[in-house]
Amino acid sequence: MMDNTVSSMEKQIYDLKELFEISKSLNSTLDFPIIIDSLLLICMAQLKVLKVCLFVRKHLDAHEFSLHRNYTGFEVDHSRTYAIPENHGLIQLFNRKYGCYTPDDIGACQVSLKGLDPIIKLEPSLLVPLQAHGKINGIIMMGERIDAGDFDAGEKEYILNVASLASIAINNASLFEMATTDMMTKLKLRHPLYTILNEWMENSRGFSMLMFDIDFFKKVNDTYGHACGDMVLKYVAQILMDNIRNSDVAARYGGEEFVILISRPGEDMAMKIAERIRKTVEDSKINYKEHVFRITISCGVACYAQGLDTSAEVMIERADKALYQSKQEGRNRITFSPAVDQTG
Ligand code: GH3
Ligand code: MG
Ligand code: MG
Repeated sequence: MMDNTVSSMEKQIYDLKELFEISKSLNSTLDFPIIIDSLLLICMAQLKVLKVCLFVRKHLDAHEFSLHRNYTGFEVDHSRTYAIPENHGLIQLFNRKYGCYTPDDIGACQVSLKGLDPIIKLEPSLLVPLQAHGKINGIIMMGERIDAGDFDAGEKEYILNVASLASIAINNASLFEMATTDMMTKLKLRHPLYTILNEWMENSRGFSMLMFDIDFFKKVNDTYGHACGDMVLKYVAQILMDNIRNSDVAARYGGEEFVILISRPGEDMAMKIAERIRKTVEDSKINYKEHVFRITISCGVACYAQGLDTSAEVMIERADKALYQSKQEGRNRITFSPAVDQTG
């Protein structure tokens, strides 16, 4: 009896120490994919599962929880959509009675999994909701276990503790994203752009900067109204995002000015991406109410040159000058800023 008590306490102390380490690891970053990776690794190790994934809101104002691309083990059919609407009975169940659920538990609560066929096909063994400030902000889904056994009460309690730590980390990351994102265009704001630019310069990475400005944008506002101008800004922002990779950064630098940082080196690469964006904008027909019209965009390109680009401001200034030249030479064009000292 005595022995049992001691070993149970030892287990509790061990679990607490682990939770402390997990908390440190989850809260050491505001980088969303890093948080998710470490969460999934923790779940696999602690609960001995081979497959694990996370459903989260893709955007701050999304109305569904979508499968995050950092999943492990599951064989996902890329032609299908894996998402749980926020008004689904399952989410209502999590809100009503917070806890983790096996598919059998869910059935016992008379909650239907209607509409979640692709997810059910992945054969979940346990669903663990993440909750921050009383609101569900994600769902961990476990697949098959290494030993094929059931989860016991202790394990369920433990994973709920991990989930509550993870939900705080995810909540912090989305607050950070909110504070650094322009809500209208969903692009980064100017200040976080400078932060990232400074980091990239410190690491002396080969990268490029594209600076865009919409041509005669004032005319769009004057002709069709400010609401139409806003729609055009969102439209152009979407084109920018569609043409870059996850490792690149797109920011709203000012009213109708945008900056893209391309994480890969080389003038050719930068000019190719700039041209693709310029052409896509030029070729687009914009529909607003009964109006159909076209717009164009001008661009300045600079590749990071160590020694020359001594600060973020210097490099921005170079891209801006090249952009100005595009405007001077007739707009709807791209100008490359040669890496030579133009001050002297
Ligand atoms: P250029 O080809 O020389 O760039 O001409 P432009 O008309 O685009 O340049 P200008 O800088 O004179 O005008 C930019 C306009 O962008 C003025 C401003 O009212 C508008 N603007 C800035 N921010 C917003 C916004 O958030 N929404 C809308 N609708 N308009 C905006
Ligand atoms: Mg402007
Ligand atoms: Mg303009």
